[in-house]
Amino acid sequence: MPRKNDLEQQALQIIASHGKEGIRQRDLWRALGASSREGSRLALRLERKGLIYREQELYEGRWTYRLIAKHQPPTFDSLVGVPCIACPDSDKCYPGGMISPERCERLEKWLLQNAAKAASKNPGEEVAEQ
Ligand code: SF4
Repeated sequence: MPRKNDLEQQALQIIASHGKEGIRQRDLWRALGASSREGSRLALRLERKGLIYREQELYEGRWTYRLIAKHQPPTFDSLVGVPCIACPDSDKCYPGGMISPERCERLEKWLLQNAAKAASKNPGEEVAEQ
């Protein structure tokens, strides 16, 4: 039997793989081979950890939840133009170093531009902190 954290990780990967549409709770349980009781507890744990959100929906006359990952994996399009790809300092850049992503103006500018683009595409949606 998989450990609790393994099952959570597996569930989160499945939920995230369904993108912004998410997945119905019961479809997730089936994919995991879990009971509805185990599945409900798992969804609640993921929600409490802030990794997913649940939206109630009516399906075939019964209320259920749709599970949606809060953070979607990056798409190829979202990485177009990242300055690190063509950066002359990339071999000297590392977290905590003299040259680092935490203090990089080029990266910060690119992130802010992408956040602004995302906000204009999805008004009202929360933009992840950078
Ligand atoms: S974070 Fe900045 S300095 Fe580091 S590789 Fe990316 S663009 Fe270059």
